[in-house]
Amino acid sequence: MTGAAMNDTLTKAAVLILLGPPGAGKGTQARMLEETFGLVQLSTGDLLRAAVAAGTEAGLAAKSVMEAGGLVSDEIVLAILKDRMAEPDTTRGVILDGFPRTPGQAEALDALLAEQGLAISAAISMEVDDAAMVARVSGRYTCAQCGEGYHDSFKQPAVAGCCDKCGGTAFKRRADDNAETVGARLTAYHASTAPLIAYYETRGVLRTVDGMGAIDAIAAELGAIVEQVTA
Ligand code: AMP
Repeated sequence: MTGAAMNDTLTKAAVLILLGPPGAGKGTQARMLEETFGLVQLSTGDLLRAAVAAGTEAGLAAKSVMEAGGLVSDEIVLAILKDRMAEPDTTRGVILDGFPRTPGQAEALDALLAEQGLAISAAISMEVDDAAMVARVSGRYTCAQCGEGYHDSFKQPAVAGCCDKCGGTAFKRRADDNAETVGARLTAYHASTAPLIAYYETRGVLRTVDGMGAIDAIAAELGAIVEQVTA
């Protein structure tokens, strides 16, 4: 994080939820909000992939579900999320990326936050066209060193094979970022996660942004929401 550029206007801990199908740009925007506001991105997908790589019991149980594009059980996801939320770097606030994904997870999150005297600042729905998501997800890859995101068609490094951000030369692709699995992930999103939009609307914390616009324009819109809900 670049300390000098960090926006220091937050007066209370922010709990932001980014909602949207795979490819909506949740991860990209969460990373930008981390840098701007000193918040911490909590991606249950990243936490689960780390558990798979480490070969933990939770990782072993999650692996095949993730490869098929299904949803990992609430029990496993909640345990992983709870552990991560307990770490001290989260006190300024968190951006939940890919969580909650089911009504059960949303209710468990409400209970977890209430225990800590916290509440959801905003649940931001990133609205996108499903049809465009398959192309977005199928071509994406990240720097193996710093995690910066790239895309075969939409965002190549300025110097081929060299990360713009850290100069790393190794890149990786997610095993589930292929056209077949993306279809299953979109189905899971519409069946289990999209209903959360109404859940948060009822609670008065829902915001929507157009996720089909330019990355910087969306970041500016999200930044304005964060400033507003944490003032
Ligand atoms: P993501 O990185 O958010 O696209 O998540 C990748 C995969 O991890 C998903 O397709 C699910 O299999 C699993 N996953 C991530 N977050 C959750 C969650 N909150 N609930 C259930 N499964 C999840």
